[in-house]
Amino acid sequence: MSNLEKYCAEQYSSGRTQRELAQELGISKSGVSRLVKRGIPFLDAPVLTRDPARPLIDRLMMRMRETSDGCWQWTGYVRNSGYAQFSYRGTNHLVHRLMYQMENGPIPDGLVIDHICRNRLCIRPEHLRAVTQSENVRCGQRWSCVAA
Ligand SMILES: [Zn+2]
Repeated sequence: MSNLEKYCAEQYSSGRTQRELAQELGISKSGVSRLVKRGIPFLDAPVLTRDPARPLIDRLMMRMRETSDGCWQWTGYVRNSGYAQFSYRGTNHLVHRLMYQMENGPIPDGLVIDHICRNRLCIRPEHLRAVTQSENVRCGQRWSCVAA
C-alpha cells in the first residue's frame, strides 16, 4: 500500500469527491477510485461516506440543501403526505421529528411538531417547534399549518 493510496482514501472519507482528487493529482477518476479502494483497509477511521454506521445526523445532513430562506430543504425520500422520510435501522422516520428530538430531546406527550417556516420539507431545528394539536389547528389554513 502506497502513501498515495492512503492519502486518497483519507481525503475521500473526509468528504472530498473522486473527481476533485483526480484533478488535484492529474490522474483519471477511475485511477482515483482504484487508489481509494486499496487505501481504505488501512485507514484508522471508517470511510464516512459509505459506512452504514455513520452517525445519523451526518447521513441526514447529506440529504439537504439550504435555501435562500434559510430552510434546510430535504432532498431525500418524501412521503405521500409531503413530509421528509428517512429509513434508519429498519424503521421509517419523519425527518423533521428526528431533527427536533436531536436538538431538543424527546417530544413531550401530546405535542406535535410545527414548521414555523411553513415549509413541510424543511428539517432545520430552529424552524421547528413543539405545539399542542389545537394550537396547530388554530394557526390558519390546514395546508399552511403543518405538523405530524
Ligand atoms: Zn424552514
